[in-house]
Amino acid sequence: MKNIHHMLEDIRQETLLTAFLTGRKTLSPEVMEAMRDVPREQFVDPGMTCLAFDNGPLPIGYGQTISQPFIVALMTDFLDIKPTDAILEIGTGSGYQTAILSLLAARVYTLEVIEDLSLEAVDRFKRLAYQNIHAKVGNGYDGWPEQAPYDGIIVTAAAPYVPDALIDQLKVGGRLVIPLGHPFGHQELILLEKRAKGPHKISKILDVAFVPLVDQPKKWH
Ligand code: SAH
Repeated sequence: MKNIHHMLEDIRQETLLTAFLTGRKTLSPEVMEAMRDVPREQFVDPGMTCLAFDNGPLPIGYGQTISQPFIVALMTDFLDIKPTDAILEIGTGSGYQTAILSLLAARVYTLEVIEDLSLEAVDRFKRLAYQNIHAKVGNGYDGWPEQAPYDGIIVTAAAPYVPDALIDQLKVGGRLVIPLGHPFGHQELILLEKRAKGPHKISKILDVAFVPLVDQPKKWH
């Protein structure tokens, strides 16, 4: 069974192996410390704790997954978070990515479309005493305008395009990381840097495989 040290080593290795695509041979020490300090085993189903430190995604129910640790670390790294930042996350899921963000930013706002997943994540945030996380049920296509603007926005489900509301809610100079592409086909992780006047700067980071960003909440009952 793998432990946290294996997980960190796997992240370092995969970062190196993909550096020719991402342009980053190492991730920032702050991101790696956050990856070390958030207990991933608390964010997976109790029956799966033996797989918690494998560098792969795992099912979290409702057809959704907790993302692969390397991808969580890479996306976080590309946000270039400062300690004073307010970050918006779309797709709370297990809350694992949210917890990583909360160690790096001043405030994290996270939206989840499946109510039960949001409630479970909020329970975890309370139990683990993460105090700068604000979570609610909502549709990520609309963002969270009341708390905007954000220094960074991360979308953890694949969208066919960058939702306009998210660009509107990003500060000029802010960074948005999002997987774009076909729901179950080719997807690319994209970094968008917002400019005062368009066009915004778009860079491709890596090919990825995410669950889709849905337009309408699915009914699970
Ligand atoms: N960041 C999560 C990854 C969860 S998978 C983690 O670390 O565990 C992506 C999540 O996005 C799923 O929970 C899914 O329900 C949610 N999602 C999909 N479409 C959404 C939408 N339109 N608005 C908000 N959340 C959405």
